[in-house]
Amino acid sequence: MRDDIVIRNVLMDCPACGHRHFVEERDREVCWTIANQHILSHERYYHCPFADEEYNEWQTYEMEEESSQNGHDTYRKNNGLLTSRDIFNIRVQYRLSCEDLEILFGLKPDSIARYERDIVQSKKEDERLRLVKDDPLKLVVMVSLRRDKFSAQRRREILDRISEVYYEYEAKKILQYTNDHTRERNFNPHTKYVNIHEIWNQ
Ligand SMILES: [Zn+2]
Repeated sequence: MRDDIVIRNVLMDCPACGHRHFVEERDREVCWTIANQHILSHERYYHCPFADEEYNEWQTYEMEEESSQNGHDTYRKNNGLLTSRDIFNIRVQYRLSCEDLEILFGLKPDSIARYERDIVQSKKEDERLRLVKDDPLKLVVMVSLRRDKFSAQRRREILDRISEVYYEYEAKKILQYTNDHTRERNFNPHTKYVNIHEIWNQ
């Protein structure tokens, strides 16, 4: 307890003592057990100095969610997996919904939404996510394989966004090639761009 840190004081109708006063918002270390590993993480909670010891600490739903996410993200970092934020970033980079990604990866409904919160993805799913993160063309192939699962309009939207990401990536590589002395070995600026619609139509 002594190591807990006060983040700030928040004026509120205190649920612990029933009076309106400044309540301490604190940070403490918390231990999670995930897949038989003990994970040390942090969480926030409120503390009332007036209520009985048994009732003087509490967490909001948001704090509980955040605590769980922190714990699972620490587990992910310790085990070399993408964090929930990494997964979210990959998804929004392509402007995909959770459902889109679940269809593309053949996952159960709500899987991606849970990965972005408190369920740790398997090593296999982690590898697939990394694959599409670094290579938009892999995602084109995935969409192509499951083309019948999307409406024609949704397919076009997804494909258009993948094209944008692809050209952004290529533009970055060219910039790096012209600016950087440690040039990417496998990159040839004279190579023609891959036509995403051609891959799509194969
Ligand atoms: Zn109070």
